[in-house]
Amino acid sequence: MIRRIIDKVFGRKKSRPTQSGAQILPVSAHGICRDQLDDCALKTCETLAQAGFKGYVVGGAVRDLLLGKTPKDFDVATDATPEQVRKLFRRSRIIGRRFQIVHVMCGRVTIEVTTFRANGEKETEDEDDRPTDEHGRLLSDNVFGSMGDDAARRDFTINALYYDPAREEVHDYFGGVADCKARTLRMIGIPETRYREDPVRMLRAARLAAKLDFHIDEATRRPVASLAPLLANIPRARIFDEALKLLLSGHALRGVHQLRAEGLHHGMLPLLDTILDDPSGERFITAALKNTDARIQSDRPSSPAFLFGALLWPQVQKRWHELEATGEKPQPALFTAMDEVLDAQRGQLAIPRRYDGMMKEIWALQPRFEQRGGQRPYRLLEHPRFRAAYDFMLLRAEAGEVPAELGEWWTRFQDADEDERASMLVTDSSPKPRRRRKRRKPGEGTAEALPA
Ligand code: ATP
Ligand code: MG
Repeated sequence: MIRRIIDKVFGRKKSRPTQSGAQILPVSAHGICRDQLDDCALKTCETLAQAGFKGYVVGGAVRDLLLGKTPKDFDVATDATPEQVRKLFRRSRIIGRRFQIVHVMCGRVTIEVTTFRANGEKETEDEDDRPTDEHGRLLSDNVFGSMGDDAARRDFTINALYYDPAREEVHDYFGGVADCKARTLRMIGIPETRYREDPVRMLRAARLAAKLDFHIDEATRRPVASLAPLLANIPRARIFDEALKLLLSGHALRGVHQLRAEGLHHGMLPLLDTILDDPSGERFITAALKNTDARIQSDRPSSPAFLFGALLWPQVQKRWHELEATGEKPQPALFTAMDEVLDAQRGQLAIPRRYDGMMKEIWALQPRFEQRGGQRPYRLLEHPRFRAAYDFMLLRAEAGEVPAELGEWWTRFQDADEDERASMLVTDSSPKPRRRRKRRKPGEGTAEALPA
């Protein structure tokens, strides 16, 4: 407490918090120049400094710049309170979720500004009262602190780096610059305690190691195997957010394998076991994740509904065929399978319902790619979800689930002119619209819907 008061009174006057234990590295040691920052981040730090506050770029952005990557967003840490920050920036608003942060907006860019917070090692009497659950999970995380406190409550050494644009210096509290150079992911503090405080850090370890292609330090890795079950206590919406970050990181394939290797998928994507143990499921998911990674890496959009639709598809497909084998007709069987799989996943992964519509449309359109005669292909081309469903079908072709020729046909058909399209039509062998009186015998007419 006393230290915090001293920091508060004297902190702003000192340019270097030497007593905090941070190493202050000049540009020659880290190579990050101010002009590599986003203009909005730079402006935010400058405005804070002009008002007498500290303002540092922190977290993933500093780490990515050190690694020569372009940061996807910039976070700023400050000793100004959220209310003080908000008053400094005309276009800003306070966002309160687990804790209050301020969004500062310039044009289309948003900078997240966070007030230094405490809750790393217990340093003072009052912090001993921090509320935890019976597994050691922190239930509240919203105590303001010094910059040193703020560094200690972060997860990995490489994330506790603060860049001061005015002086082009990096404040490194836990050897993060050296760990970055050695490509090592290392937890700050005692790993087991930190995972108990927030089990999601285990998922972050797997995600960041995959994203950065870092190796996880042995002491950081070791507790994960026994603590993985703690993920069951985390609200599922948070797990879903983390799953989305992993899948949209541009390194989803590596991330998914990393998760499974650490035994973390039970708490995050339990369906991976069933998918990856089945060779055709694995082929499909590998194709889907590679494709997503390539899209993200070349800045093309990738929709969560498409991704989760792909992850769930092996189950939908399996259930669909099981139902067909019991005599159900292909289309109703597919719809029943879709609903069953979506219901089952709600207990596990909690994919928000807002994605259901698009996932179902993508799935439901799959049998229609088989129908290449008459007006049907033209109608399919007009469907608002054609593009996503077509991309999905190409993945199935890549995984050997439908003939490669089918994918090639649709690729050509889209770009062909009128005459060529007409010449491409295949004699319609698909089931005609069902007539009421004529009942099909069990098992009949199922094969053409989806060749195995
Ligand atoms: P990415 O580049 O994927 O955004 P990131 O490290 O920036 O990675 P964020 O989720 O944006 O991840 O978090 C920003 C910073 O907040 C992190 O760098 C880390 O310092 C801190 N942080 C985030 N989540 C936790 C956590 N669960 N425990 C401790 N610190 C965390
Ligand atoms: Mg980030």
